[in-house]
Amino acid sequence: MRQALLYGLLTLALAQATPTRKGPTPVVKRGDDPTQSSAPPEPSHYPGGDTPECPNEPLYFNFDVSKPGELKRVQRLHQVYCNEFPVLTVAGRTATTNSDRTIYERFFPESDEDDDYKDRVNDIWNMLFDFTAEKPSALVSSFIFDNNDWKKECGETSGANLSPGSESLPLGAYTDVDPADGREKTHFCLVVYEYIDLASITCDTLDSYPSTQMDTTGRIMLHEFTHYSTVGPKSHLDSQIVDQKNEDEIWAYGASRSHGLIDPKQDDQPEKAIINADNYSWISTNQFFKQACPKGTNGNYDDPPNYVPGHDGDPSNTGKGDNPGDNGCGTSTATGCNGTPDDDDTYGYFTGE
Ligand SMILES: [Zn+2]
Repeated sequence: MRQALLYGLLTLALAQATPTRKGPTPVVKRGDDPTQSSAPPEPSHYPGGDTPECPNEPLYFNFDVSKPGELKRVQRLHQVYCNEFPVLTVAGRTATTNSDRTIYERFFPESDEDDDYKDRVNDIWNMLFDFTAEKPSALVSSFIFDNNDWKKECGETSGANLSPGSESLPLGAYTDVDPADGREKTHFCLVVYEYIDLASITCDTLDSYPSTQMDTTGRIMLHEFTHYSTVGPKSHLDSQIVDQKNEDEIWAYGASRSHGLIDPKQDDQPEKAIINADNYSWISTNQFFKQACPKGTNGNYDDPPNYVPGHDGDPSNTGKGDNPGDNGCGTSTATGCNGTPDDDDTYGYFTGE
């Protein structure tokens, strides 16, 4: 990483993220006293207590900050929201509106006589970020980080192996409506908290194409935010941003498979690309590193390798699996390796894909 440039970008993000004066609200503990007839817990403003919340920060729910581990989680999400989400979202919009179309066309279709694709993609950035005020949009303050794995999809209570190199990769995060309270929320599985900070990535570790060497909690946060029903359906896109599948019916996660959706030599499915969450998170990530660590032709990086049909790995996964060029899944069909959520309503994200 070119430290000076990166810190410049992060300083910009921090400057944009001017703290408000609203103090942290203590999170309500769950089920401390079943005999107490107090109101059920409610999502709160940032409860970490170390720094003020950032503009339009999502709410926090079911974090018991009296427990050091859970306090660490809220502080980590807070840092990612304040420092990584803004710069990645701004980068996504930059790639969309740039005169150099290389990165945009790697992940999205240009407008044509039938569809104003570019305007629809651009509107998603406008839903998530207020480019006039230079801060995340007010809409983002309605999102909720829920510490409770209410869908029990992370594998953390079932004894699943959480090692990213294992054959059964854990789910990374999901955004869905919790039927228990009717709220639309995002849950991050524990493994996602362990990702490297965007600011700590060094340029010399990066491949010459977008790959998991660039992966961050911030990218996954952006991926999850695009899923909210208040984003896609309420925008000019006029459709929910989901997790799509490539032609081989495997989830289009990762840079290779996201690019594969739009690539005329692979799936050639522009309608799928514009509603696939990872296309938004990868155009942003690619553009961010073009600015921070330019590589490849004109600093844009090269196209990621083609995905291998029928193989649940992604060739752009070079950092998180046992083997370079493989996501560590091998030929396993274990749940989590083939990236199959248990129903169509969960917009989950598998860390390894
Ligand atoms: Zn997703």
